[in-house]
Amino acid sequence: KVLCATGIIAVLLAFFWKDTFNPESLSGARVLLTGASAGIGEQMAYHYARFGAEILLTARREAVLQKVMEKCLTLGAKKVFYVPADMSSPSEPEKVVQFAVQKLGGLDYLVLNHIGNSPFQMWNGDVEYTHWLMQVNFFSYVALATAALPTLEKNKGSLVVVSSLTGKIPTPFTTSYSATKFALDGFFSSLRHELIMQKRNVSVTLCILGLIDTDTALEKTRGKVYLTASPAAEAALAIIQAGATKVQEVFYPWWLQYTCSLWVLFPCHRNQVLQSYYNYSSP
Ligand code: NDP
Repeated sequence: KVLCATGIIAVLLAFFWKDTFNPESLSGARVLLTGASAGIGEQMAYHYARFGAEILLTARREAVLQKVMEKCLTLGAKKVFYVPADMSSPSEPEKVVQFAVQKLGGLDYLVLNHIGNSPFQMWNGDVEYTHWLMQVNFFSYVALATAALPTLEKNKGSLVVVSSLTGKIPTPFTTSYSATKFALDGFFSSLRHELIMQKRNVSVTLCILGLIDTDTALEKTRGKVYLTASPAAEAALAIIQAGATKVQEVFYPWWLQYTCSLWVLFPCHRNQVLQSYYNYSSP
């Protein structure tokens, strides 16, 4: 009995130990962060900086990246570089990873967070736009991850993919955006299994976020949803902690995982639930 109890305690300790975030583990960690000029990405840059990481920031706007870089340096980042890149261009992902590896000498974290402009509106038949958004929100993630896998594997690193509740539950006004997020779930959840099968030491963390109070999200959802937005700085920290502890999926706010479970368990209530959170009367 004593042996059995000790075994159970050891398993529980191992479980909780694995999930405990150690901020010191990020000191000197080499991070490539996309969508780093604004919103949640900008907040992640500041957290990584406070933890003493070495960061390569990317987004399109050079002047804004420069400002984020300067603030990261004042907050304690060991090294910060930036590279402007438009992820709608298929050649950019590989160039960005090469630049990061060259500047930082390798990568421990690849944090994929950027998104192309996604109006919160009804489907208007613009197929070209959906192709473009797939390139920015999905294909560039695949290309960035592919280019970074060798260096991540060498360093037992982590791939962190920022997704959304609309990548688990389809919601109105997000046709193309939701499709890109479902695609991320399919690709990266499958890749995770393959990496495990091949005993390649790279973790894949999928981050499922609810409404977050970034300027873009608040502006586009105003008057269309009855949801409270959660703070971007907290969302950013939840993503970083999940990546550092190699969690497979993280939900922020935490209760979203129960929303997803209920969605699967009670399909007959789906329309009723959505109609209570979305303004169906003024599309
Ligand atoms: P923001 O719109 O605030 O920031 C988007 C970032 O992506 C910016 O840094 C922007 O910089 C960059 N970006 C935009 N277009 C491109 C492009 N073509 N190429 C490269 N970079 C680009 O987004 P959020 O912070 O709100 O969202 C961050 C992540 O969180 C996304 O993956 C989003 O899906 C997810 N999420 C957000 C939610 C929310 O409510 N905010 C809810 C659920 C998920 P620049 O303009 O300089 O290029």
